Amino acid sequence: MLRILITNDDGVRSEGIKALADAVAHLGEVTVVAPVGESSAIGHALTLTRPLRLEEVAERWFAVDGTPTDCVNIAVSKILGARPGLVLSGINKGYNIGDDVTYSGTVAGAMEGALLGVPSIAVSQCRVPVYDFRQAAAAARTIAEAVVERGLAPRMFLNVNVPPVPMQGFRTTVQARRNHMTQVLEGVDPRGRTYFWISEADYEWVPDERSDFHAVKQGFVSVTPLLVDLTSHEHLPLVEGLSLPAGVGVD
Ligand code: MN
Repeated sequence: MLRILITNDDGVRSEGIKALADAVAHLGEVTVVAPVGESSAIGHALTLTRPLRLEEVAERWFAVDGTPTDCVNIAVSKILGARPGLVLSGINKGYNIGDDVTYSGTVAGAMEGALLGVPSIAVSQCRVPVYDFRQAAAAARTIAEAVVERGLAPRMFLNVNVPPVPMQGFRTTVQARRNHMTQVLEGVDPRGRTYFWISEADYEWVPDERSDFHAVKQGFVSVTPLLVDLTSHEHLPLVEGLSLPAGVGVD
C-alpha cells in the first residue's frame, strides 16, 4: 500500500492539514507529522541545537516541537522506518508564490521530501478571513492522483497554489518575481527597549503571464515545478569569466 507522509508549517492543529489528509486518504495509508505550533516562514531550517520531542496526538498523527524539515526526517527515520511513496505539505493558509517560496516552511516540507527521493507536493491557498479548504483539497487530490499514477522526476517537486474563487482549471507556471520590499517596523517595548517587527510590505509583482501569481489571479490552480538544486547553470560561464586563479596564496 502507498504510504503518504503529510506535514505543514501552520502546525499539527491547522484545519488545512486535516483537509489535506482527508483528501488523499483513498490513495494509501496517511501518516501526519507536523510542527506542534505555527512555524510559518521558517524556510528549510533543520534544528541542530536542541533535542526534539515527538508526541502522538491521535492515531498516525504526530506533533514535533520543530520545523517541517525536522518533521519529515523524524517521520522517515523513526515513525515510518522507510521512505514514504509520497510527501505532501500543507494546506497552507496563504499563498506561497514567487520569490516568497524561499521563506516558506510549507514549500520546505516538500523540498525535504524531494531531497529524500520521494515525489513531493506543497499545497497553499489564498489568505482569506474565513478558511474553506474544500477547493484546495480537491485540487490537491487531483494532482496527487496524477503524481501517484505518473510519478515525478528526481530532485524536483511541485508547488501548488489554489485561488479563492471557483477554479478555472490547472496551469503550469513559473515563479513570479517581485520588487523585494520587506517592512521593518520599529517600536519600544514596555521595558523601554527598542524592538523590530518584520512584516510584508506592499510590493509589486513583475508582470509575467506564465507566472504563479498571474495564474491564481486569473482563477487557475498554479502548479510550479521547483528544483532543489539552486545552481544557476546559465551563469557558470559568468563565474568562469571572472578568471579566478587556480591557486590562492595566504600572506
Ligand atoms: Mn504557514
